[in-house]
Amino acid sequence: MYYKQYGNTDMKVSAIGMGCMRYNNDDINAGNLEKCSELVLYAHEKGINFFDTAPFYCQDKSEEITGMALSQLPRDSYYVSSKVNLGTLNNKFSPDEFRRRLETTLSRLKVDYLDFYYLWCMLDLKSFQKHFDTMYSSFEKAKEEGLIRNITFSSHMQGNDLEEVIKLDAFQGMLIGYNALNYRFRQSGIAAAYKKGMGIVVMNPLGGGLIPNNPDVFSYLSEGTDLTTVQAALRFVASHKEITVTLNGFSTKDHVDDAVKAVENLEEKPAAQIYEEYERKGIALNNLCTGCGYCLHCPKDIEIPKFMDAYNEKLLGNKLIDRLKFHWHIPASQAEECIACGKCERLCTQHLPIIERLKEIAQHA
Ligand code: SF4
Ligand code: SF4
Repeated sequence: MYYKQYGNTDMKVSAIGMGCMRYNNDDINAGNLEKCSELVLYAHEKGINFFDTAPFYCQDKSEEITGMALSQLPRDSYYVSSKVNLGTLNNKFSPDEFRRRLETTLSRLKVDYLDFYYLWCMLDLKSFQKHFDTMYSSFEKAKEEGLIRNITFSSHMQGNDLEEVIKLDAFQGMLIGYNALNYRFRQSGIAAAYKKGMGIVVMNPLGGGLIPNNPDVFSYLSEGTDLTTVQAALRFVASHKEITVTLNGFSTKDHVDDAVKAVENLEEKPAAQIYEEYERKGIALNNLCTGCGYCLHCPKDIEIPKFMDAYNEKLLGNKLIDRLKFHWHIPASQAEECIACGKCERLCTQHLPIIERLKEIAQHA
């Protein structure tokens, strides 16, 4: 296993982390949690020492399953994270509620402290600010009491919004979605976090299944290597010098083996270099939006990259409306606002027919 330093801390973490949200559903339904927990032990045996869980994952059993395994391991041989936000507290925040939730997590995980506790799933700056103002002091108190070691946040915001959060100097690390498909969205956020000495953990390195489900489209990632497309996509993320841990959800031991192979003899490179090399290969993305953000500043404030990202899903055989609704949380009706001024199409680095695509999306409103 390849290990990296977590930001400015002295923690040596595995380049691949286990995202504990893909335990086998049949085993969970059958109440066979012990069997699920064996996967954690197997991953640990293979050198993975970073385990990421949360309330509600796997029918709310993930923390419990993960704890069953971690309790069999020396506490200093792994790092574990969990998450909280207002939704997790039924939108009824109080310091006591926060504390109760944290204690539940600790007891399910059978640990005295969490290495990382995330302010979970910040979708935009407005929501972040509300969460920060309400909850941050409770995080600080828990840290003072030794219940959490590092305060971190997870987010779907784009690079420039991430920068605003990073500027606060309030977090030791962040968790963001990043992969070979959306890599342009978050470059500036990644650079800013790295400069601050924060740990950067990546979720969704396989594009929510887009990459494994479309191996032909993404085969160029593995060109010249003996890696599968999935392994190459994991390696793409893990090889960023700035990225500390690449989380991968495992359901089987084969998944663990795949991920371990992906970072064998890993060579770290600065994001800028990977970006440049990748841009040269990226022609294979042809009619897909790459999230570069050049089309921003629409006079009608339409969030074009998000709409075009959803359209990617359609081109790759998935449901664009699900992406808009469940990932970006924006209504298709926003696409109706387009006045066809053409500004975005002139700027689009992929020369995409944005106006036509927005019209099509508007039909889903
Ligand atoms: S064409 Fe539509 S989406 Fe593009 S900049 Fe103009 S109003 Fe915005
Ligand atoms: S400029 Fe084109 S490729 Fe870039 S984010 Fe906008 S729509 Fe996507």
